[in-house]
Amino acid sequence: MSHLMNTYARLPIAFERGEGAWLWDTDGKRYLDALSGIAVNTLGHAHPRLTTALSTQLNKLMHVSNVYQIPEQEQLANRLAALSGMDEVFICNSGCEANEAAIKLARMYGHNKGVETPHIIVMEKAFHGRTLATLSATGNRKVQAGFEPLVKGFVRVPYDDLDAIRQVAQHNPEVVAVLVEPIQGEGGIRTLDIHYLEQLRQICDQNGWLLMLDEVQCGIGRTGKWFAFQHTGILPDVMTLAKGLGSGVPIGACLAAGKATGTFKPGNHGSTFGGNPLATTAALATLDIVEHDQLMAHATAIGDFLLAGFKQRLGGNPGLVALRGQGLMLGIELSKPCGELVKLALARGLLINVTADSVVRLLPPLIFTEAEAQQLLDTLCPLITEFMS
Ligand SMILES: *Cc1c(COP(=O)(O)O)cnc(C)c1O
Repeated sequence: MSHLMNTYARLPIAFERGEGAWLWDTDGKRYLDALSGIAVNTLGHAHPRLTTALSTQLNKLMHVSNVYQIPEQEQLANRLAALSGMDEVFICNSGCEANEAAIKLARMYGHNKGVETPHIIVMEKAFHGRTLATLSATGNRKVQAGFEPLVKGFVRVPYDDLDAIRQVAQHNPEVVAVLVEPIQGEGGIRTLDIHYLEQLRQICDQNGWLLMLDEVQCGIGRTGKWFAFQHTGILPDVMTLAKGLGSGVPIGACLAAGKATGTFKPGNHGSTFGGNPLATTAALATLDIVEHDQLMAHATAIGDFLLAGFKQRLGGNPGLVALRGQGLMLGIELSKPCGELVKLALARGLLINVTADSVVRLLPPLIFTEAEAQQLLDTLCPLITEFMS
């Protein structure tokens, strides 16, 4: 009997080692990884420059405390600020913590301007994490059920619906911020267009709200830019990051700009582990390698190649509802629940994911080669065709 708490419906497989986009299970069978531990392994597995940077750091210093100055953390903050155009960075350990920081920041921002019970607009089908505040912000009843009472202070609107937000603006003077994923990940790879984000920026400015983008899944080069908002002309007031930031070493970040800057003062927020020398070294190395190896342009090229391949090979299939996504964050929506495809793909040596019941989600590492993309198409397309016939 397992002594692990029963929190996951795990597949009956364990991996022993990895290299690039490949994993080997404990029986020595090889798998192509088109999931990257859910958008985490930006650089694939056992990237030699990352492991060298990490082992060098391990031999120097792993953890001290935020009681002291941490030069690597300051370097990472400078780097993220330069890449994003934002002003301040708080480093934590995960996506939900990054969003907790954003939610706390929005509330304090609201209180600072005299709003007694600050509210945050959130979206249907959103996913922001599994702590109490972030599951309350999440737009999925399955994530919330059983954990009531939920944290108050959220107003939910449909995704991709500006009029719904304008309605809230007219009727709710307690709103202080909007929290939204530029591309919903768990919600089924649903994308917002540039127009939506630019209009939302305007609405936030007109109302004095913070525009807070959850880029925990879509950030760090995955969509072909460092951050998904950079496909638009806008700058958010708050942005959260995590998954791909440390290429597998746990780290998250909450960034602030403009009117959100300076909200937190010493004592308002903190984290024991957040931003320790090991985690920040992983993030710095990840950013260096993504930049040096031009992995964002690569993600765009491979993503376009995959989208064209799926369109060509599945486009005529009546079971195909939509192909969505950008760069290496892709979704194939089918007309029926398709969770079974995960096991079928596994049997053929391919790791994929299904989210929102009927969306095949692909999040390959940014180092995915064209040959690997071709192999993904060659394995997955016939599988989907058979499954839908
Ligand atoms: C995964 C995810 C989170 C939660 O991150 P954790 O590290 O699991 O806490 C939050 N927001 C988005 C968009 C995510 O994809």
